[in-house]
Amino acid sequence: MNIFTPANFIDDTSKESKYFPVYNSKLLHFLKESSVRPATEDEMKWSGLEEKSRHFIGYLDDAPLYAVSVSNEQTMIPDTTFTDLRALFPVMNMQLFEAISRAFQIVNWSDSNKYCGYCGSELHHDERERAMKCHNCHAPLVYPKISPCIITLIHKDKSILLAHNKNFPVNLYSTIAGFIEAGESAEACLMREVKEEVGIEVHNIKYFQSQSWPFPGQLMLGYFAEYKSGEITPDNDEIDDAQWFEVDNLPNTPPPGVSISGDLIQHYLNSLK
Ligand SMILES: [Zn+2]
Repeated sequence: MNIFTPANFIDDTSKESKYFPVYNSKLLHFLKESSVRPATEDEMKWSGLEEKSRHFIGYLDDAPLYAVSVSNEQTMIPDTTFTDLRALFPVMNMQLFEAISRAFQIVNWSDSNKYCGYCGSELHHDERERAMKCHNCHAPLVYPKISPCIITLIHKDKSILLAHNKNFPVNLYSTIAGFIEAGESAEACLMREVKEEVGIEVHNIKYFQSQSWPFPGQLMLGYFAEYKSGEITPDNDEIDDAQWFEVDNLPNTPPPGVSISGDLIQHYLNSLK
């Protein structure tokens, strides 16, 4: 089990630093190892990776942890390859996922904010905060962008509503999710998204928990919602199928652990026991 403690500025260098190299939204993965892990100082030194930027993101098991944005995919570290993060879910625990989620978002923020949106001058890292600032004008500081989203498990006694997104594998069903719009509350967003995507009304909305989701920077706010009225009508845009599933006869769903969708489902199943 790992322990990840986020931080913005380093004050303890008693342990050797560790590194998560990120190339084009992919993570360096050690193919012959059973779990995801960061690279060591020695491995980074001889990796042949060209660093665009490096960011201290906190401590992993008390060791300083850096996210490193790299500009080449070829590495001299044996038996490694840059891998899509979703493919690595089965080989990472929640603490590692939180560290990697932070690494990806910091790298994405740094790579995508080179210039001031007001005057076009080059941006610089602020010395006191995790933020970028413009030296030429008085533009507000640019912080890593986080997009709040709702994700909800809709239930009706011993059935739950699960939907198939047109981009999912064939038999994978999940909970309803969507981005909160400017000026909207999370609860209003939930009712709107549910109505838009599957055509029904819900009530008795109860907050569950939240999760950072680095694709590219969502904060998922998890809720349970009870069915109120209406017939399921998939929007046929994002959702091509949605059904009530009896809890003892579920399709493939995201596993609990790394995905809040899986946690919502498991929590509801446990609540019925
Ligand atoms: Zn400016």
